[in-house]
Amino acid sequence: MKIDIKWHEVEIGAIVKEPGSASEYKTGDWRSEVPVRDNEKCIKCGICYIFCPEGCIYRTEDGYFDANLYYCKGCGICAYECPRGVIRMIEEKKE
Ligand code: SF4
Ligand code: SF4
Repeated sequence: MKIDIKWHEVEIGAIVKEPGSASEYKTGDWRSEVPVRDNEKCIKCGICYIFCPEGCIYRTEDGYFDANLYYCKGCGICAYECPRGVIRMIEEKKE
């Protein structure tokens, strides 16, 4: 769905429903670091999902959370906000 409004016309509290602030672009190409998870420590609280500015974190079938790397920009906010230290940012290897 394409929405044709200016940023200052967006209502306060609006929710991004599609991944990526620019869902038609492969924003993951901008990334230099990538989030990796150790789900052994994850308590499935969803805080990473809430704080991701790209909306690219999704819930997996087993209740954990993962990032869609097509859109993830590697900002590290999910790693910063995770209360259990589940997420680490590591340098991404480009082929
Ligand atoms: S690093 Fe984490 S918070 Fe940042 S865009 Fe990627 S998944 Fe979202
Ligand atoms: S914020 Fe951390 S503990 Fe909570 S769901 Fe995400 S990875 Fe798991």
